Amino acid sequence: MQLYQEQTLKITNSLSGKKEIFKPINEGHVGMYVCGPTVYSNVHLGNCRTFMSFDMIFRYLRHLGYKVRYVRNITDAGHLVDDADEGEDKIAKKARLEKIEPMEVVQRYTVDFHYILDQFNFLPPSIEPTATGHIIEQLEIIKEILEKGYAYEINGSVYFDVKKFNDTFEYGKLSGRKLEDMIANTRELAAQSEKKNPQDFALWKKAEPQHIMRWPSPWGDGFPGWHLECTAMSTKYLGETFDIHGGGMDLKFPHHECEIAQAEASNGHSPVNYWLHANMLTMNGKKMAKSTGNNILPGEIFSGENTILSKPFSPSVVRFFMMQAHYTSILDLSNDALLASEKGYHRLMDAFDNLKNLETDTISDFDVPGWRQKCYDAMNDDFNTPILIAHLFEGVKHINLIKEGKEKITSTDKDLLQQTMSDFIFDVLGLEHKTESNQDSNKLQGVVELLIELRNEARSNRDFSTSDKIRDQLSAMGIQLKDGKEGTTFSVS
Ligand code: AMP
Ligand code: ZN
Repeated sequence: MQLYQEQTLKITNSLSGKKEIFKPINEGHVGMYVCGPTVYSNVHLGNCRTFMSFDMIFRYLRHLGYKVRYVRNITDAGHLVDDADEGEDKIAKKARLEKIEPMEVVQRYTVDFHYILDQFNFLPPSIEPTATGHIIEQLEIIKEILEKGYAYEINGSVYFDVKKFNDTFEYGKLSGRKLEDMIANTRELAAQSEKKNPQDFALWKKAEPQHIMRWPSPWGDGFPGWHLECTAMSTKYLGETFDIHGGGMDLKFPHHECEIAQAEASNGHSPVNYWLHANMLTMNGKKMAKSTGNNILPGEIFSGENTILSKPFSPSVVRFFMMQAHYTSILDLSNDALLASEKGYHRLMDAFDNLKNLETDTISDFDVPGWRQKCYDAMNDDFNTPILIAHLFEGVKHINLIKEGKEKITSTDKDLLQQTMSDFIFDVLGLEHKTESNQDSNKLQGVVELLIELRNEARSNRDFSTSDKIRDQLSAMGIQLKDGKEGTTFSVS
């Protein structure tokens, strides 16, 4: 018996706008695709929030016992500067500015992406395919869409014919837009473009001579449109219809709308059963974004090298901060919010440490099985991590009461409490417990303070050879002593 057979998971499907009971296509298996980063710059904390929301979802699905194939792509070609069909490729532009190869840009920022996600304790996806590795699959889909009559070629480019598609299917159903309204709003733009309609989007773009990222095709040298890679890679690895497609809220239109259109035009049916959209991280009330400069890099938070926060914060504290909001709510980053999360994180971890030393009794004052189910109920209700965390703190309250001798717990309940806390804190929320390193640094502090005391004694006895020996040998180990008005302090390099 797997946990998913005992629990009823409901998720908000952006397509219906409703909370729906989750039922995968193949029992026990889940196929999930999430749009990955365009690797032309360092990931900021906003990007990390979206990926972290899906890491939590991936973790919970696995925890329930599902075998999850999680595909998260790397966009290494085709994403143009203006997000529409004009302008330079984001990666090629960066390569031109830095005078390096586009694939050097891709490598640099893919490595950065993995490094940052690793520090946040992300689980790696099952497959991480690239757009440039799937040009052939993308060409096949274009041919199929052309054959079915939902695309047209003009001057070496191929565009998706949105109006034609809308005669049979429904363009705009995910984002709740009507094609007629879109057309009415963009009438004057129509004449400037080679497209039949401004709503049409590129499946393939002809490469101008200066465009360095180019591939041969039946329509001449060019490159794929941004939306096509996700259709090609999700279909290849998860099938024509799969369970979950996720991404940031800002990708709903046009990116995901176009993905639906491409898949329906080529296969004749809807590609995804559940569309999930994660909400944005803001700073000073505005969306965190690369383009506006309103952003902070995770590394700047971990090191404290920034002008926004009063101190460094660890990856686990930042992760805990993110998990305190529901993934569909906007979350605003601030120093006060991070300070509060840090306190909460330590309270949770301290209680977890105290748990193993609790004395047990023949009765329990705390209904542990009931509390455990409440934790599941929270996660089953569209992955409600803030409610889950509230229940975990309910657990903390009882741990502290039992520790103080004001409540009792049986040994069976204690084991269940420990297992449940561990499952949700570490496996589902993905937090890390750095006690050992904390304890090590506490020990180091104690040892150095003892040596400082011995050095002070030696100095007051005018035993300078001993006091110098302590200072010099510590310095050789990378521990610098600094004598000041308030006494001696130390720093570790
Ligand atoms: P990009 O690399 O621009 O394609 O973005 C990668 C992912 O980050 C997409 O899923 C975006 O929706 C997401 N994203 C961008 N900005 C934010 C933000 N401020 N908060 C949350 N997610 C974001
Ligand atoms: Zn995508």
